[in-house]
Amino acid sequence: MGDNIVNFYAGQPPLNRVAFQRHSSEVMNRHLNDPETRFLVFKDGKPLMKKDESGSILFLTKNQLGDDELGKEFGVAPSDASSETKKYYETSRLPHTQPPLVFLGIDDRQSPTTNSSSKVDHLNPQGPAYFALDAQGDTLNWDELLERENGEWGDARSSGNNMSPWDAGVYAQGRALVDWNARNKFCPACGSPTYSLWAGWKRNCLSSVQPIEGKEPCFSTKGLHNFAYPRTDPVIIMGILDSTGEKMLLGRQKSWPKGMYSCLAGFIEPGETFEDATRREVLEEAGIEVGPVRYSSSQPWPFPSNLMVGTFGRAKDGQTIRLDLDNELEDAQWFPKSLLQSIISSPSGSTFSKKDYKQLDDKAQSHHDQESSAALAPSEKKPDELVAKEGELGLSRVPPSTAIAGQLIRQWARGELDLVSKL
Ligand SMILES: [Zn+2]
Repeated sequence: MGDNIVNFYAGQPPLNRVAFQRHSSEVMNRHLNDPETRFLVFKDGKPLMKKDESGSILFLTKNQLGDDELGKEFGVAPSDASSETKKYYETSRLPHTQPPLVFLGIDDRQSPTTNSSSKVDHLNPQGPAYFALDAQGDTLNWDELLERENGEWGDARSSGNNMSPWDAGVYAQGRALVDWNARNKFCPACGSPTYSLWAGWKRNCLSSVQPIEGKEPCFSTKGLHNFAYPRTDPVIIMGILDSTGEKMLLGRQKSWPKGMYSCLAGFIEPGETFEDATRREVLEEAGIEVGPVRYSSSQPWPFPSNLMVGTFGRAKDGQTIRLDLDNELEDAQWFPKSLLQSIISSPSGSTFSKKDYKQLDDKAQSHHDQESSAALAPSEKKPDELVAKEGELGLSRVPPSTAIAGQLIRQWARGELDLVSKL
């Protein structure tokens, strides 16, 4: 599997998430109190970074944090609770008003948990544990802590720019989970507050541990549903080739930085496969019918909880681009391989300024804008602003290789499509 395409924010190798440990308060509290454990802190979705050290996350230990900022240990059920009730308390965080705390996993890179040694214990991989913490409330001493530890709150999007690939994986996981906990404070079934359990990986209706007299049990506590678990929202993003394979279809939205074109993209809708969504989006956005579709690779995109699913597709012959079906794009064109090759090899071909990112972030309120924001991932270390001519629709930039769109374009332009869908 060494030839799998690994995208930024995937953090290979990933943390060992040891998901089965999330159910044990005893194990979680042991990690929580271990002096080697690292905490990744967010405030309003912004990560705690090292001041003056561009791109470095400031991971804190429990000692550096202090008990006030961290809150209580994970709780357990009352000793006389039934086995059914005990499930509602599994690694719970009560009272529910404490800052969300999420167990991310164990960094076992120094002693990898593989089957190659009989000494390896998959139940207890060795290495520092990682948690993500949401720094809520201004009454706590965050300002003092930042001063003491020489930290600062980084920008959510551009902080990823210079992170090491491994740190970026931890960041993507932590940010998505902290964000999910922060956005789901009330039960979608009955409106009661929710509380965290499973060490941050589940949220239940508070009425399941604090029943309301005279009220029926909330229906979120029964049957199959997806109310209680973190979401991953898939977005399809595609490199569409013409019938000769020598041209790629790229488009741009009006709100994008000047000169930038990227792969077409869109949310996968319920009841669709990757292939269906690829064909539907290309038809809606550019009026082009697509035949065969192949999966390429995927990318976690924690703004807030997307998974970018990259595909390649082959357009049918003899079609004309039209943008008037859903009017989402300002322009779409077939670009020849030679032009894309020259842009990706030019130093300015994937350079975006802080202002460019802000332009995308400011627009990232709707579904469409989330897609457009995801088309442009963290850039290389180039703070300079590029100036493009006003009103010009020419292609001068494509997303960097840290964005999956940038990867799809590069794979095709460099003749690496033989990596796709092959074992
Ligand atoms: Zn409820």
